[in-house]
Amino acid sequence: MSVTVETAARTAPAAVIVAIDGPAGTGKSSTSKAVAAKLGFGYLDTGAQYRAITWWMLENGIDVDDPVALADAADKPQIVSGTDPSGPTITVDGVDVSGPIRTQHVTSHVSAVSAVAEVRTRITELQRAIATGAERGIVVEGRDIGTTVLPDADLKIFLTASAEARAARRSGELKGKEAADLAATQAALAKRDAADSGRKTSPLAKADDAVEVDTTELTLDQVIECVVTLVEEKQQAKA
Ligand code: C5P
Repeated sequence: MSVTVETAARTAPAAVIVAIDGPAGTGKSSTSKAVAAKLGFGYLDTGAQYRAITWWMLENGIDVDDPVALADAADKPQIVSGTDPSGPTITVDGVDVSGPIRTQHVTSHVSAVSAVAEVRTRITELQRAIATGAERGIVVEGRDIGTTVLPDADLKIFLTASAEARAARRSGELKGKEAADLAATQAALAKRDAADSGRKTSPLAKADDAVEVDTTELTLDQVIECVVTLVEEKQQAKA
């Protein structure tokens, strides 16, 4: 019996929990998905969960400028995240909201909704349940994963990039009219970052033990390679 256990410990790579935080437009989602796919890990987009609860509040006529109304409603929607990096899913009360949560309407209100402590408590519980249930390992991306949600993560990465690079990337992801105005994109990102960094409850922040990667001058492939190498080092250290 002990031989079997020892053999398994030698051959199976240990599950690794990876937290990737940083502001919008740093390549968090593309990097996290690709790293998870390469390593056979799950992938959790925590921004999608905050967008989903924001979508539900707007759909249900909750005043998103009223923190008390948001707090009262925080427990109501059932949010379910699928963690396959090749096709992550998100539903609210059984409805696929992967498209609607990316609209400008949701984006412009998500920081206010996610600043409410009761909303964060609810979403943080979901995140911890998913991360601890991961069998082979998981990459969790967000703003407060390394500091608050998973402070014991095996590896913490904090992605940064210049404001210009972030706006250019985000503008490239948007379509048609929304992509046209780079200056407006940069201003909207700066506003969202300021709100996310300045809020009282678990703001966007680099954990003391996070590895900071400035992606301004790097290609996406270079960032992916850098993170995969860091994860593999952790796996070897844990084995
Ligand atoms: O990552 P994404 O840009 O989709 O995140 C949308 C918003 O969700 C952020 O601007 C932030 O307000 C909120 N968020 C958060 N904490 C996280 C992830 C996202 O507050 N862990």
